[in-house]
Amino acid sequence: HHHALSDLNILSVLGRGNGATVYKVSDNQTGAIYALKVVRFGENVESVIREAEILQRVVSSEYVVRCLKVFDGGGDHGLCFVMEYMDAGSLHNILSKKKRLSENVISFIATCVLRGLQYLHALQLVHRDIKPSNLLVTMRGEVKIADFGASRVVAGPTSSCVISTDGACIGTCAYMSPERWDVGEECDGYAGDVWSLGVVAMECYVGRFPLVGPGQKPDWVTLVCAICFGENVESVVKMGSPEFVSFCKRCLEREWRNRGTVEELLLHPFVNKSEISGVEDFASCIASTH
Ligand code: ATP
Ligand code: MG
Repeated sequence: HHHALSDLNILSVLGRGNGATVYKVSDNQTGAIYALKVVRFGENVESVIREAEILQRVVSSEYVVRCLKVFDGGGDHGLCFVMEYMDAGSLHNILSKKKRLSENVISFIATCVLRGLQYLHALQLVHRDIKPSNLLVTMRGEVKIADFGASRVVAGPTSSCVISTDGACIGTCAYMSPERWDVGEECDGYAGDVWSLGVVAMECYVGRFPLVGPGQKPDWVTLVCAICFGENVESVVKMGSPEFVSFCKRCLEREWRNRGTVEELLLHPFVNKSEISGVEDFASCIASTH
């Protein structure tokens, strides 16, 4: 039972994001290790409350990072989320050390993310921010979806265009589907999560953000052009197996109505290949980065 910050002992900082800091903490009573995300209320109180509501609903999937407790940190701390500690950090950390991952490992990661999305979408939740730093991993090779700061409950078709002039969001926007750049386009939102997974899968394969050229630092125009009119998947993943290329193409179909759904992709030949060797391969890949 964690009711206050004083019950927890801060050990280190795991990450800092937009208005939030994530700490590694231990429980003063039991010594158990957790991750504590402290989100300052700031000017965006509604989005903090929404993240808390969503986190309290998504507690029974092994592919979603579990939140055990939410409480008000008091003072100017903000809202506190006590979460299971993912001891190997994020896929972003792994990629920054490892560069390229094998197709077997990518297949395993994609399977885990699809199962997490299947769980969320069944609850009518869209994540809206699938990217390597929001996919957390353990030394055992588990992969789970985290960070519900951008998530929404779907209630019928919505216009989800999020064009903003805030340069700070370029990292997140890089994984956003074409329909999210289209003013006035209505979409169901679910297909956007599938697009982002496709970008992540290609990034794991080529070892860099795949939608712009190597070494190119994307400005807004380059990025939006790459997402909406960019190269074919084949020209980026030249050496990939036919199953992998086909999987990426189904995720990165520009027209969201024609894109693969989570249910379809869970039956794709690239997915669910060998779960046991998948988790073992990923665990040894993670071990080699530590
Ligand atoms: P951003 O705005 O960059 O997406 P954020 O402020 O929304 O970040 P999170 O994405 O939830 O915050 O967490 C930021 C980072 O902290 C993650 O990328 C990860 O490295 C680390 N982190 C978050 N939660 C955990 C956890 N449960 N276990 C281990 N590390 C974590
Ligand atoms: Mg994040």
